[in-house]
Amino acid sequence: PTTPTDLVTETDLTDILPLVARGKVRDIYQLDAQTLLFIATDRISAYDVVMKNGIPRKGTLLTLLSTHWFRLLAAAHPPLKTHFLTLALPPAVPRALRHRAMQVRRLAPLPVEVIVRGYVTGSAWREYCAAGTVHGVRVAPGLRECERFPGGPMFTPSTKAELGMHDENIHPDKVTSLLGPTLAARLTTLATSLYTTAHAHALAAGLILADTKFEFALSPPTPLPIADDPASSSPLPELVLIDEVLTPDSSRYWPADKYEPGRPQESFDKQFLRDWLSGGGMGGVEGGVEMPAWVVEGTRGRYEEVFERLTGRGLGDWIEELE
Ligand code: ATP
Ligand code: MG
Repeated sequence: PTTPTDLVTETDLTDILPLVARGKVRDIYQLDAQTLLFIATDRISAYDVVMKNGIPRKGTLLTLLSTHWFRLLAAAHPPLKTHFLTLALPPAVPRALRHRAMQVRRLAPLPVEVIVRGYVTGSAWREYCAAGTVHGVRVAPGLRECERFPGGPMFTPSTKAELGMHDENIHPDKVTSLLGPTLAARLTTLATSLYTTAHAHALAAGLILADTKFEFALSPPTPLPIADDPASSSPLPELVLIDEVLTPDSSRYWPADKYEPGRPQESFDKQFLRDWLSGGGMGGVEGGVEMPAWVVEGTRGRYEEVFERLTGRGLGDWIEELE
């Protein structure tokens, strides 16, 4: 076809490339020992359940938005390295997949989801109400739902669950024991400062970045934890930013002009889909959940609006420019 395909819920390139993994959203193939083809499909998951139908062009949007943030964050935080190599497709890959696939450096992801939260919402709000803590860390009393943390953004990691399992919130100290103190401290500082940069950019576009999830890998690969050894002269391995970055799949974005602590916020992420699901749409999860057209359209519209606000251009214009 001459145009990129609008709806791709599954790819099969196994005739030409070894399949490394299928995630909830991405199909990942190996190009060579150091390089992956990282393809974002239009699959969408909520409460860790993948819907039967997809959101047209969502994968393209996630890929292009990630490249936007990779460029921006690398420029704002030298010498930050990312896994991004190019949007160019290797010759054998169908051209219909263009703009939703990127070539990335293959690395071993650290075993933690690097979540940074600026506001008390979602699972953090539930824990705070029940125990006065967030990921086991005591925070100021008297906060209202969705209020900004008075002490600044919090590093609130979780474990990386296997497909079909739920991630589990963990105390930051757990990361110190998993990675070693020096690496954990560097990870915390880097992730919080990336969040702060992104929060400022989003706010200038009228959006509040409430929280986000980063993933990192080590280059060169290094056994964990890394002991704190003052006698060691070997430098720490480099932290490389991988996966998707600051997309509506990995982040909560709220419209800034409607922000009001003390209640749940309207949002540009999967909340729309989650609300429909928890209102009864979940029905028979066993056979899979099919979103009605209005849920697909509502979700697509929200994703496209956040893309346009953050990049300053509509998805259609962006694709046209790349063609
Ligand atoms: P969700 O994002 O909904 O939690 P998921 O975690 O299954 O789903 P996908 O986005 O479908 O994720 O797949 C991406 C997978 O690729 C993740 O497991 C991530 O850790 C991994 N990954 C990301 N970047 C790299 C990289 N450079 N090298 C190797 N693996 C990577
Ligand atoms: Mg993912």
